[in-house]
Amino acid sequence: MSQKPVLRFAPSPTGMLHIGGARTALFNWLYARHTGGTFLLRIEDTDRERSTPEAVDAILNGMKWMGLDWDGDAVFQFARAPRHREVAEKLLAEGKAYRCYATADELTAMREEQKAAGKPMRYDGRWRDRTPTAEEAAKPSVVRLKARQDGETIVQDKVLGDVRFENSQLDDMVLLRSDGTPTYMLAVVVDDADMGVTHVIRGADHLNNAARQLQLIEAMGATTPVYGHLPLINGPDGAKLSKRHGALAVEAYRDMGYLPETMRNYLLRLGWSHGDDEIIPTEQAIAWFNLESIGKSAARMDYKKLDNLNGHYIRETANDVLVAEITAFLARETPPRILSLTARQRLESAMTSLKERAKTLVELVQGAEFLFTDGPRTLDAPADKLLTPDGRAALAGALPALEGTDWTGPALEAAARTHAESSGLKLGQVAQPLRAALTGKASSPPLFEMLALLGREESLVRLRAYAA
Ligand code: GLU
Repeated sequence: MSQKPVLRFAPSPTGMLHIGGARTALFNWLYARHTGGTFLLRIEDTDRERSTPEAVDAILNGMKWMGLDWDGDAVFQFARAPRHREVAEKLLAEGKAYRCYATADELTAMREEQKAAGKPMRYDGRWRDRTPTAEEAAKPSVVRLKARQDGETIVQDKVLGDVRFENSQLDDMVLLRSDGTPTYMLAVVVDDADMGVTHVIRGADHLNNAARQLQLIEAMGATTPVYGHLPLINGPDGAKLSKRHGALAVEAYRDMGYLPETMRNYLLRLGWSHGDDEIIPTEQAIAWFNLESIGKSAARMDYKKLDNLNGHYIRETANDVLVAEITAFLARETPPRILSLTARQRLESAMTSLKERAKTLVELVQGAEFLFTDGPRTLDAPADKLLTPDGRAALAGALPALEGTDWTGPALEAAARTHAESSGLKLGQVAQPLRAALTGKASSPPLFEMLALLGREESLVRLRAYAA
């Protein structure tokens, strides 16, 4: 019977959900959903100094926003410290680990000597085969793994292939600190084993750890998971992604108006491919995802591609869903903006036109502002240029024609055309000032549709405010 895969995402809550972390979570989630396996979430909060509840929230919210649902409750690693200690004690009892009584000063001196001699700095195994005297045994000690010293450890990586490490290069790592707290290396391996994790998909920055973790897995007699280490994500210039490149946190992408579906598609393509396909909706991604098609080389951020993809998903999204997204988006602003029922109805009616021209929710909101509140508009610079004295005069001239017609899009358009023709003006010379006064902008969804949508009374209030 082949066992269903068990995947996990194991972030350290020391900051936001990073774009690289989100991609790791996504790949694990996709593989679990593709195989009908399990996707677990483990919050690695063992570093008590740097872990914060805010970061835990940011990670959970980021995952939820991305639509990456995990199975069961999130596991908090720190709560499992007694279990980690238990495993270390067992390894000690079996002679697979040992106590090291070297003081911090001694270890510093050791490293300085190694450095001076031009040797690599690593623990020299001084307590590996030594029995402490009664006096020494009363002193503080750490527990170290008795790692293999010869031969090599091979990480058989699904993405990177076989990666070999000389065991002589790996020193006896600490499992328990002198205060009895487990190290990250111990905690990860014990938790993965206890949680039945079959596949460890994570950033390539953990590749070296994998070699050490394999030694520990072997000592524990646990089952080796399938490893897949994901190449880094670089900035658009090819250099390692950093703050200098702008947004790193998933939250920032949400606030810039990208849809979760866009982020899933975009992050999928950062390191995974299916021929030349760029648009891969999540359902399709679940059907196609595999570990074999993860790329070996670093991926590069491409913000233009992200924008185009977002424009695509905005157009694909149902109008009522977009209204809900925008409502939620505005409610997250400080102070929160709450849309009235009328505003939401107007927004939904105008959405088919609005969404044609927007690449982000921010652009969508900007294009829709004129629907949110009533009364005369404040003009942006391009709109102001349209409402010159001539523009205002054209607007004033057109008003009687509009006032005298049925307030429907086609009737208003016909009235404006007739008026323009009889005044020797082009339709644009009439329509543009009207648009500027109605929306405060020089571009908007189709003008006559918007006049009809806003209604006679509201439209006239806006137009009259700028009629010379
Ligand atoms: N907690 C580690 C991190 O956030 C990940 C550990 C792992 O995936 O094995 O980088």
